[in-house]
Amino acid sequence: VLLLSDELMVRHDPGPGHPERPERLRAAQAALEDLEATRVTPTRATRAQIARVHEESHIDRVDSLHGRVDALDPDTSVSEHSVDAAYLAAGALVDATAAVTSGDDKRAFALVRPPGHHAEAQVAMGFCLFNNVAVAAAHAVAELGLERVLIVDWDVHHGNGTQHMFEARRDILFCSLHQYPFYPGSGAPDEQGRSAGEGYNVNVGLPAGCGPGDYLAAFDDVVLPIADAFAPQLVLVSAGFDAHRRDPLAGMELESETYADLTDKLLSVAERHADGRIVLCLEGGYDLKALGQSVRACADVLCGVAAPGANAEPTRGADAIAKTRAVHRPRWSI
Ligand SMILES: [Zn+2]
Repeated sequence: VLLLSDELMVRHDPGPGHPERPERLRAAQAALEDLEATRVTPTRATRAQIARVHEESHIDRVDSLHGRVDALDPDTSVSEHSVDAAYLAAGALVDATAAVTSGDDKRAFALVRPPGHHAEAQVAMGFCLFNNVAVAAAHAVAELGLERVLIVDWDVHHGNGTQHMFEARRDILFCSLHQYPFYPGSGAPDEQGRSAGEGYNVNVGLPAGCGPGDYLAAFDDVVLPIADAFAPQLVLVSAGFDAHRRDPLAGMELESETYADLTDKLLSVAERHADGRIVLCLEGGYDLKALGQSVRACADVLCGVAAPGANAEPTRGADAIAKTRAVHRPRWSI
């Protein structure tokens, strides 16, 4: 297992009182301090790598904020080291993806800030400057020769940026589970991709109050069967931990152990189809204790610790899961 992180990403500071704070990364790093993994120092993403998914004008805008304290939008602020941190976060995902694709270690966890999944091609959004996972997925196809990449996004917020970047493609399948309706507003079940990518964008929009059984059922009934039919050569995970019951920003009820079960299920997909290649990427998660415990639960599974194997009994989420199944049944036989 490869573990990628760097002190520079702790030094990205959106300002006093901001939930996406430096202590988040410290808590995640501390939780993995004694993990038996190979520590890798990430390198910066290149402009060309980022430009596969972002417009040049957006990269210019981010570059113009180098070394400054400023804001890209009301939620998304930068400090002196933020632009460097953003390049390093995207680079960590590129490095992790390249390593698991060509090296002996097939599993990686990238602990990064700023997060990425809300960043759109043209603009920063929702604490995110560059879309780290999207940069990695595009790199895997363009540079590493992969033909099918699966991105699963279990952050409690919809991964709008990732969806929009890949919704017209069928080589990168995006699957998001999120609280719905909720920030950022997108992620309805009928947002299923367009033109060549129709059916390759999967949204499970769950009502507030969903717990472990709902998420596990959504995996068993939607995510896993579609993933098995798609047969990805790489599994990327936008791993936010803000669906945890302790999280202050959202209204879901997951336990830290739930994330071990979700990781275990995606690991099984990677083992069946992708030569075991899987990369977890930190997104949100705003309660420090929940974040540390959940990150550790995922990392332990990557290191071979057995997951709890909780029961997949949906409660509040049953209707939402049924809606997504109905949208995608024709293509994926789910
Ligand atoms: Zn989130």
